[in-house]
Amino acid sequence: MNQSSLIAPENYNIVMEFEKYAEEPNRKALIVEDDKGNQNEITYRNLIRNANKIGNILLEHGIKKGDKLLVMMPRSIETYEVYIAALKTGIIIIPCSEMFRTKDLQYRITHGEVRGVVSYAAFTPQFNDIDQYEELVKFSVGGKKEDWNELERIKETASEELEIVHTTSEDLAFLPYTSGTTGNPKAVMHTHAWGYAHMRTAPANWLAINEGDKVWATAAPGWQKWVWSPFLSVLGSGATGFVYNGKFEPKKYMSLLEKYGINVFCCTPTEYRLMAKLDNLADYQLPSLHSAVSAGEPLNREVIDQFEKYFGVTVRDGYGQTENTLLLGFLKGMKVKPGSMGKPTPGNNVQLIDEDCNPVPVGEVGDIAVPLDTPALFKAYYKDEERTKKSCRGDFYITGDQAKIDEEGYFWFEGRNDDIIVSSGYTIGPFEVEDALVKHPAVKECAVVASPDEVRGNVVKAFVVLQDHVDSSETGLVKELQNHAKQLTAPYKYPRKIEFINELPKTSSGKTRRVELRQREKTIAK
Ligand code: ATP
Ligand code: MG
Repeated sequence: MNQSSLIAPENYNIVMEFEKYAEEPNRKALIVEDDKGNQNEITYRNLIRNANKIGNILLEHGIKKGDKLLVMMPRSIETYEVYIAALKTGIIIIPCSEMFRTKDLQYRITHGEVRGVVSYAAFTPQFNDIDQYEELVKFSVGGKKEDWNELERIKETASEELEIVHTTSEDLAFLPYTSGTTGNPKAVMHTHAWGYAHMRTAPANWLAINEGDKVWATAAPGWQKWVWSPFLSVLGSGATGFVYNGKFEPKKYMSLLEKYGINVFCCTPTEYRLMAKLDNLADYQLPSLHSAVSAGEPLNREVIDQFEKYFGVTVRDGYGQTENTLLLGFLKGMKVKPGSMGKPTPGNNVQLIDEDCNPVPVGEVGDIAVPLDTPALFKAYYKDEERTKKSCRGDFYITGDQAKIDEEGYFWFEGRNDDIIVSSGYTIGPFEVEDALVKHPAVKECAVVASPDEVRGNVVKAFVVLQDHVDSSETGLVKELQNHAKQLTAPYKYPRKIEFINELPKTSSGKTRRVELRQREKTIAK
């Protein structure tokens, strides 16, 4: 597949891809289980009908093509309906996580010039102190709230006929904000053409979805990962999405995989890690599972080993950003090298370059970059010319991540530029050390950062969260972990300092914020 096959036709709207499946009256779009065990399901046909009603309601309330709609919804059928409604009417979606608080919302509402809001009723109090509260057109789902329009009630009388508004592929579809792992979130401009390119990259090649498969992608709405997998990849393939809106609990997830006969599973490395650490994996049978993938953070080898051992499925890593799509990954059937992020996905010409945009030789660290004309690349950071400019070098977009390539063209993640540790002149990526440490049975999670040191410039420091049954005051534990790391990585990379903590600082999407730990070390050193 070459790059041109990812270029959208001029007149294009993402929803065109889903509507063809609504022609079959019984094709199942979603199956839902809530945390109390209640089940529900909906066909493509009914999903589109409900979306049409919502689209009509948005238009009747004066929200129209080009306006921005902030959507703060949990994992639910209604979330799909609202997204489809907005895309069909050319309204631009600002996805928001249910974990956001007033400050996060205020930032997006002001910066994104938001006109309307759809919020789950339980989250509406977060909007009470928003400066623009009076001017916003507000819809609540799942309950009536004072001066909010109750979406379900208005839906009862709304028309279920709605044509897709005319959009070109260059019209904006989404304005997601990045996770904020390294600093303030950036608003990423994505067009309908981006959706076209994404749907031709991830679903068939990486997730390996076959029509009719049951797909469980666990990402929560509000993150671009939700748009990628449970939304676009599922509905764009005519598959059936499984939605569970309860809390993550490793045993619960394993039993749902079994109960629903999930064929394709996509979750975060942290979730996989906690599942792989279960001591009763042998109790679960997953004969239907043919594809399991991970993205968002580095994937540990232990996960791959455990899933292979118990379920005969190789968990395949994939790499991408809010700003683009799945750029690197292990496609189904490709030889897996545990610890690597795979190779460029079809149509994405991912390269490793140096400061002068020259390719770096095999085995050396370089910046992961893609040419600026990559179809699945964002247009710009909204109203932020400076950061947009900073992300470009020559004809390339620079991801901000570093990696090495081996002689077979596989990419190996080193770290985010800021996370790389330089100690006694050695460059050390935190991931390799973390990967070694989590292999130790006493370790639940860990994060490795630079800690300032007078002699070495920096030393490698590991913040370790121990398994519940392990006592941090156990004598010899630090030494044991250090020796363990020395055996699995080059000895100069071992953590000279180890500190036990109860939990790692994380973004609300669950990514480790090494920046916080690094700052802490710097402050202590002063
Ligand atoms: P911000 O840009 O606001 O700091 P963020 O970069 O975490 O936040 P996202 O776009 O959600 O926001 O995440 C993309 C980043 O996640 C990548 O740049 C990379 O650092 C990391 N990442 C994604 N997939 C992988 C992977 N498979 N292995 C290692 N790192 C990954
Ligand atoms: Mg980023």
